[in-house]
Amino acid sequence: MMNTRTYRYTDMMLEHASVGMAVYDARDLRLLEANTLFMTILNTFLDSHWQCERVIGHPLTSWATHIDFYALSVVEIFCTVAETGVPYRGAELVVTTGKRGTTYWNWSVSPVRDEDGRVTHLVQTLNDVTEQVLARRKAEQAQNALSRTHSAVEAERRRLEVVETVARSVREYLDTEHIGNIALDAIAEHFQADGSCLHIADHAQQVLRLVCARQQEGGDPDGWKSMEYIPFERTIAGKQTCRQREPIVLEDLQVAAEMGLFNKKNPLVTVGVRGYVCVPLWFGDRFEGTLCANFTRPICPDGPEVKALVGSGTHLAAALAHARLHSSTAREQTRLLSILDQLPEGILIADISNSTITYANQAAASILGLSLDELLSTPLHRHPWSHAYTGQSIDGKPILPWNFAVIRALGGETIKSKETLVIKPCGTKIVTLTSSAPLYANNGAMTGAMIVFQDVTAQKSLEQHKNDFLSIANHELRTPITIIQGFAEILQLKATQDQPLDSLTQYALTSITEQSQHLTHLIEEMLDISRIEQAQLVLRRTPCDLLSILARVIDSQSITTRQHQLHLALDGLQTTDTLIAYADEERMVQVFNNLISNAIKYSPAGGEIEIGLRHIPERATEVLIWVKDHGIGIAANEISNIFKRFHRASNLDRSLSGFGIGLYLVKEVVIRHGGRVWVESQEGQGSTFYVILPLNV
Ligand code: ADP
Repeated sequence: MMNTRTYRYTDMMLEHASVGMAVYDARDLRLLEANTLFMTILNTFLDSHWQCERVIGHPLTSWATHIDFYALSVVEIFCTVAETGVPYRGAELVVTTGKRGTTYWNWSVSPVRDEDGRVTHLVQTLNDVTEQVLARRKAEQAQNALSRTHSAVEAERRRLEVVETVARSVREYLDTEHIGNIALDAIAEHFQADGSCLHIADHAQQVLRLVCARQQEGGDPDGWKSMEYIPFERTIAGKQTCRQREPIVLEDLQVAAEMGLFNKKNPLVTVGVRGYVCVPLWFGDRFEGTLCANFTRPICPDGPEVKALVGSGTHLAAALAHARLHSSTAREQTRLLSILDQLPEGILIADISNSTITYANQAAASILGLSLDELLSTPLHRHPWSHAYTGQSIDGKPILPWNFAVIRALGGETIKSKETLVIKPCGTKIVTLTSSAPLYANNGAMTGAMIVFQDVTAQKSLEQHKNDFLSIANHELRTPITIIQGFAEILQLKATQDQPLDSLTQYALTSITEQSQHLTHLIEEMLDISRIEQAQLVLRRTPCDLLSILARVIDSQSITTRQHQLHLALDGLQTTDTLIAYADEERMVQVFNNLISNAIKYSPAGGEIEIGLRHIPERATEVLIWVKDHGIGIAANEISNIFKRFHRASNLDRSLSGFGIGLYLVKEVVIRHGGRVWVESQEGQGSTFYVILPLNV
């Protein structure tokens, strides 16, 4: 038995305990005693009828039903503890009342036994843990928020890791397959993708070609076979991606298939894929390929794996585009080089940094008589043969050594069709027709020079032979013709002095004179051509009256024809005027003769021929001369050619004799006088030839 002193202390302790406590009779669950805290707590929940001490002495079953949380199960718990003697520790009790709102309570029921071990009393504790619970809840919420932030940061870190890995590999490598493999490895490692693949777009074939693929261990190794070529117009990857820029994200393929939104027989569905992403790779306006990955878990459209794939996609698109451009440039370069290799002209490319030839085609090597190795290894100015060029000349004129053409191009000069000299190692000299020019990079910096040359030794010697022949022919033909002409004239003179000749003999004599004059004229023209080609056509220019020259030529040409009426038309001048030009009179006669005789010749039906001359104050320093006929005219497509030597229009009746030399000489003579010549004509209507000559006033 407790003594009074101890009992008082116990009473005090019960009264001041921070836990509500109550003692019940174990037999009928009567509330025997409770401390003030318990009563206060109970009061919060009891209605006015059971207020305060009214519950003391009453069994739990009578008043507990008036308290929400003291449901029947609570009474059962009390009974069980009373029967079994096993204490009960109540789970956190949530109580919601109008007065205090939601509160949390820890409670327990413990048995008190007598000396025989029988349960006589039950002690109930009731402890308000609302504050602790709320504090714990808050702490848990904070913890959750923290771990959410942490996993978001972690996902972001993994995303950045993948994108950075891909970006780095794009900077370091050019090989698309290698870059693709690095990208797929990074995606597999950081996002546990079940499978991933990179396709490149082949626009010519309209297919996506597989570059590389990854699969989780244990996957079907042949699974990618069907993905090697995907026509643009087939499957999700092909059909949509070549048109859209947004990634295709299927959050859960299995669900989509169940809902009938996706074909259940699709291989992705049958192998159990859930999340699927396909990122179209676009570089500028060009669709370059696709990057796809699948997962055995559902994914979110803005999930980190989707973001990582999209981020990597930008770099991969650039890599695919660069690889494409690089390979097409390489292809183009190979094509170009194989064309250059085949060209009959020699081609060399020299680098400005060391003046060394970096490219030479076979033709260049054989023209120069060197091997490709010899050509490509030595700087231009150190070539062992270069000393041989000093003081070289051809036909008495100094000639440029071929390597100087390159050196001058490296100095920024462009040389067009210039004769250059090549001395082969065996000592043979050849002449090449050479063009060279500097080469520039896109930024305008000079990178080197190129030279194109062809061996013209054969043409040169052919030309030489032709010229030799012409001068021999001229000399050898002229003498007999002069003799024939002389004798024909003697015979004619004799005929007029002695007895007249019969008409046939007279006709024969006249023909001999005319034809030999024609021959002399032709020989003269041929000679003029060779003079022009050898730059030996010398003008003997003196002040001469163009008007009187023209009048004389018209008079002499008029005698040759009866069908044509030649007349002089003057503009800004009188017949009595003089028009002085500083010109070669003989050559002027040749020009006018050629134009007027052509007008006569190419108007076989006869007609009027106007020879005009205009000298007006507005253009006082020049004179315009024209010869206008109404003959056969010249077809438009022939006009640009008729001033070329030996060219005759194709519409000509071949009975109209000629060599196609006259107009060429006219042009050369007029140009050498500082003038210009051209024609206006319509086929079948006639032609007008114009000449402008400077007057040097
Ligand atoms: P040729 O008269 O000896 O053929 P030319 O050099 O004088 O040579 O003329 C070249 C070509 O120009 C002629 O063959 C002819 O086709 C054309 N041609 C020249 N003059 C005339 C003209 N007045 N009318 C039509 N065609 C002309």
